[in-house]
Amino acid sequence: MKVNKIVFEKIREEIKNQKEGIEFGGWLLIEGNEVYNIIFSNKEQSGGHVKLDPKDVLRLNPDERKHVKGWWHRHPIQGPSQIDRNQTYDLTMLWGECRMLILQPNNKIVDWHVIKAEDIIDGNEYAYVKEKKEWGLHE
Ligand SMILES: [Zn+2]
Repeated sequence: MKVNKIVFEKIREEIKNQKEGIEFGGWLLIEGNEVYNIIFSNKEQSGGHVKLDPKDVLRLNPDERKHVKGWWHRHPIQGPSQIDRNQTYDLTMLWGECRMLILQPNNKIVDWHVIKAEDIIDGNEYAYVKEKKEWGLHE
């Protein structure tokens, strides 16, 4: 699992545009195992939640749009909330996989790669965390 330097640079720049203590989010563009770009997308923001705008994905050209397989946000707790997990599992069902990047108060970025799988006995689809990583914001 990789994150391109450009993504960290864009995040550090965007932090300057955002109010302290307010969540902000974005869509992640993925190629192979690398997050290579980020599109900030904030439909609703507060100190306790952020809602991304799906319209920002639709605005991309189809070539780029198919690479959107993850989401980013900054939030005020350590680790993903249950809502974050649920959203990631939902997106995994849509995309087959999902990367979830979260900037925590300790300035570490949690990076989860979640995969869709199918139970071989009953055929039910489910999501599982294939890989977890943590990045410093300045890596
Ligand atoms: Zn969160």
